[in-house]
This record gives sequence, structure tokens and C-alpha cells, in this order.
Amino acid sequence: MGLGRSLLLAAAASDGLNRFATRSPVIRRATRAFMPGETPEAALEAGRRLVERDGRGLLFTRLGEALTNLHEAAQVRDHYLALLNQLESAGLPGEISVKPTQLGLDQSPARCAELAAELAERAQAAGSTLWLDMEDSSYVDRTLDLYETLKDRYPGTGLALQAYLRRTPADLERLAPLGPVVRLVKGAYAEPSEVAFPKKSDTDRAFREVALRLLELVADGRKGRAPTSRAVLGTHDLLLVGRIQAEVRERGLPTDGFEVHMLYGIRSEQQARLRSEGQAVSTLISYGRDWYRWYVRRLAERPANVWFVVKSTLG
Ligand SMILES: Cc1cc2nc3c(=O)[nH]c(=O)nc-3n(C[C@H](O)[C@H](O)[C@H](O)COP(=O)(O)OP(=O)(O)OC[C@H]3O[C@@H](n4cnc5c(N)ncnc54)[C@H](O)[C@@H]3O)c2cc1C
Repeated sequence: MGLGRSLLLAAAASDGLNRFATRSPVIRRATRAFMPGETPEAALEAGRRLVERDGRGLLFTRLGEALTNLHEAAQVRDHYLALLNQLESAGLPGEISVKPTQLGLDQSPARCAELAAELAERAQAAGSTLWLDMEDSSYVDRTLDLYETLKDRYPGTGLALQAYLRRTPADLERLAPLGPVVRLVKGAYAEPSEVAFPKKSDTDRAFREVALRLLELVADGRKGRAPTSRAVLGTHDLLLVGRIQAEVRERGLPTDGFEVHMLYGIRSEQQARLRSEGQAVSTLISYGRDWYRWYVRRLAERPANVWFVVKSTLG
């Protein structure tokens, strides 16, 4: 891991920097590149503009800090229930993406499952989808258990899997009989090398292999040989997407078998270009007051972004 990335991941964990940044109007302004605003209304408005432009899909996530009690978890559920209502009345095709810890996974896995089920049920009724984000590796077992419980009752429910984790191919095989709905991402947390590949090239190779396995499951589902699966590549790495697309053709897998999901404000022109080429694309829009840790992780993914922040801070 590069020094810039390690320093930024350490900065993400700092409470002092968090307090400073979230109170600074200048830094708050700089976040606008990746986050249209702190309120759901700002996020919905930005989403509406994207849908009007090219009919892409949308996902919404409210950024949140660690919970201290289950009352806060119920408030998170209420927030997303209200958001699903807002999406429905606005006629917007949005899905929601939620961190299990925001629904109380640390405090009570059973209560977390109840709250997640309420969201999955409401999402299903609204023709939307509940996605479970994957957090650091200490949560993977509990998140997979939660996913299996939900998937049984709400088949559209989705789960993020992280290609950098050595265990992910086995986790996908565990889910394969269910017809998994998976967003494959590279992985955003600082993990020890026993758990995750330290080298980016290994993560990229694993991403390609897991993506192709996922596409085999999609193909089996379409042929009626397995339950229906859904494959999402959650990445801005278009070279990698191109390589996967080439291999999909070589292997005779469905070329329209995957969607690409990217974050708001990152590679925006490429998102629009892919969409204009007929690729299914969705943009994940984050909002909320607790943006600090999330934002610094985005900077860590591309330390050159720090210069972008410095420039917008000075300019
Ligand atoms: C829709 C979506 C959902 C996600 N959900 C999760 C999750 O649940 N759990 C999890 O651990 N991680 C999640 N992530 C984050 C993910 O794990 C990666 O950290 C992140 O996507 C960066 O990796 P990359 O695949 O874009 O590839 P990289 O190899 O990091 O980047 C490829 C190229 O994209 C561009 N790029 C990438 N990031 C940035 C950036 N921040 N700013 C500007 N340019 C950039 C750069 O040009 C870079 O060369 C999610 C990402 C997306 C897109």
C-alpha cells in the first residue's frame, strides 16, 4: 500500500480531523465534486438530472458514523423508508444501498435482520432493491448470514462482495445456489495481507475471475438451469471492464449480462459514454452530514484527488 494511501486511511480514522473537516465551510464545499449535498433532496435532485439526461439507474446511500444504540438503527430504517417513498412519488428509478452496521449489526444481528427485512420488503413493493454494502473483513461472515436470510424472502436483495478478499471466490460459491444479486467491488478498507491481496494486480485478477464466475451464474439463470442472478461491476476501472467484456465474448457468456455501477462525480464523462453505448449504468449518490470518513476513503483511492481538493479549497 502506498504511503499516500496509508496516510489517508489513517486520517480517515481520526476523530479530530473529522470534527475539523465537517465544520469547515471550505472543505464542505470541496466535497461537492463527489456529493451533491448533505440532504436527501439534494441527492434526489442530482439523480433526477442524470436520469433525464440518459435514463441511467440510480442508487442512494446516506453516509453514517458508527451507531451507539439500536434506537439509532431504527432511525436509519425510518430514513430509508421515507427515501423509498420520496423516490416513488418522484417517479425516480432508485435503489438503496445500506451498511449493515447502520442497521445495528454490531449491537444485535437479530434486530439488524428485522430492520433490513423491513427495508427489503418496502423496496420490493416499490420495485426497488435493497443493497447491503460490505464493510471491513470482520463483518463479512455476519453480512453473508444476513444476506442469506433476506434473499430467501426478498429475492431481489443485493450484496456487495470485495475482490481483494482472499475468501471471496468461496463466498460466491456459498451463495451460488441462491441466485445471488452481487455488486462486485475491489474493496475500500485497510486489511492485513493474510486477509486481502496487498497488490493491486492480484485484486484486479481476482476481480476478473469472480466477475466471470458471476456471469456464468447469470447465464445459468437465463437458461433456467439455476435461479436468476444479477451481476454488477462496481468499479471505475474501465480497462478492467473492457477486459472482462472481451472474455465474456470469448466464452460465449451473455454480453448484456452485467451492469456497471459507479460513484457520483467519479469518471462522469465515462459513465455517460458507457450509457450512450447502451451499457446498463447506475450512479451511486451519497449524501448526509457524516461524510468525513467516506470522503477521505475516496481520496485514498486516488491520492491525486488531494490536489483537486487543495485547488478547490484555494480557488
Ligand atoms: C457502486 C459502488 C459501490 C461500492 N460499494 C462498496 C462496498 O460496499 N464496500 C467496499 O469496500 N467498497 C465499495 N466500493 C468502493 C470500491 O471498493 C473501491 O474502493 C472503489 O470503487 C475504487 O476502486 P475502482 O474499482 O474504481 O478501481 P481503481 O483501480 O481504484 O480505479 C480505477 C480508475 O478509476 C479512477 N478512480 C477510482 N477511484 C477514484 C476516485 N476516488 N476519484 C477519482 N478517480 C477515481 C481512477 O482513474 C483509477 O485509475 C464501491 C464502489 C462503487 C463504484
